[in-house]
Amino acid sequence: MNWDYEVDVAVVGGGACGLMTALRAGHSPSLRVAVFEKGSRLMSNAQISSGTLAAAGTRFQKAAGIVDAPERHAEDVIRKNHGRCDRDVVLALCSAAPRYVEYLADALGHPVELAPDMSRVGHSVPRLHSDKGRTGGATLVKNLKRGLAAAPNITFVDKLLWMYSISANLVVVREETGIKSIYELSGKKFNPGFRGSAVEKSSEVAFGVLGIKPDWQRMGTADVVDAMKDKRIVGFAKAGAGYGHDASTMDIATQVPLRTLPYSEEDMKKIKAARPHIPWVKVPAGSIKGMGEFWTTVSLAFVAASKDMPPELAYRLVKAIWDGQEHQPQSVMGVAYKNPGLSAQLALSPLHAGAIKYYRELGFKVPDHLVPPEAK
Ligand SMILES: Cc1cc2nc3c(=O)[nH]c(=O)nc-3n(C[C@H](O)[C@H](O)[C@H](O)COP(=O)(O)OP(=O)(O)OC[C@H]3O[C@@H](n4cnc5c(N)ncnc54)[C@H](O)[C@@H]3O)c2cc1C
Repeated sequence: MNWDYEVDVAVVGGGACGLMTALRAGHSPSLRVAVFEKGSRLMSNAQISSGTLAAAGTRFQKAAGIVDAPERHAEDVIRKNHGRCDRDVVLALCSAAPRYVEYLADALGHPVELAPDMSRVGHSVPRLHSDKGRTGGATLVKNLKRGLAAAPNITFVDKLLWMYSISANLVVVREETGIKSIYELSGKKFNPGFRGSAVEKSSEVAFGVLGIKPDWQRMGTADVVDAMKDKRIVGFAKAGAGYGHDASTMDIATQVPLRTLPYSEEDMKKIKAARPHIPWVKVPAGSIKGMGEFWTTVSLAFVAASKDMPPELAYRLVKAIWDGQEHQPQSVMGVAYKNPGLSAQLALSPLHAGAIKYYRELGFKVPDHLVPPEAK
């Protein structure tokens, strides 16, 4: 079996921008395009939006006798944001807008009409367009996805097959600081995770919910290692290797004694109630020397497929992975391979129908929110 799949255009995120980008790229038949969507239950902004489309000079406006032009649209935007924008970019976007609104109507069958009833601040003439029936962003996304499904060279990849690695996000401090609880990090120089990482975002959100306000120190992993050794920061958060510490943390530990700080069960419940999209894991006792089991946030990596992958193929693929699970640690040093049930327990996005069949066969309960419509 050939495992390589190459695409010419890889789009990350299947919201308004990603779907439109993929559709436009897919117009070139020689390009192979894939949209990778994490498929959160919380949905994209596009899906929950009102789905109104601001555009000037469309045929819908002309039919309603409204005189408008992209330049006027741009001036309205610039006036409303008091010039805090790049004028050229605003004008370019406003100039493209009517073409895209008409494209949605003509190429995708989105039932566009002018919507003078849906007013927004700052527009000097009626230029918001909506779908007939005002069903909003959900309909817009549905029609964009229908266009995608009809394009033979575009694949939408959003159904999880199996989890191949799990990394506990560990909060670590220099032992000599005497800090024994995450609550003592307020006001202290602390790196929430390397710049741009999921760990950085998780730490910010989790600490924010608990009211912990460190003096955030932004930097990459190599700088964190130096800053810890030089005692410029008290600690940092870092995704581990499985439940244990990763190589960079081990490197620091060769020179600086470290302490790992857990979240309590109460912390976990509080954060989960406020931010349900953050995944958690109970780190087993002994994973960190001298520590019992404890809660922490987790970084997960899944293998996903398009729902167009035949269920039987997905089933055989997932089964082959778990039947041959002794081979997995040779390529990934995570711990996911030890427990196929974690794929069904920890996933935040729907699983592929073929994968669901396999996990159910093993006796795992797949929660309703992970079962996509085609698998019901
Ligand atoms: C309530 C509400 C009403 C709004 N109404 C309007 C309106 O009427 N008109 C208007 O023009 N704008 C409106 N907006 C704004 C509009 O929805 C956004 O500007 C637009 O959706 C942004 O498009 P996007 O593709 O950047 O983001 P999104 O539409 O949010 O899409 C981002 C996608 O990326 C996915 N994703 C994120 N991270 C990853 C990852 N690491 N890997 C894979 N996938 C990932 C997400 O799951 C999501 O599906 C509204 C917004 C809201 C919240």
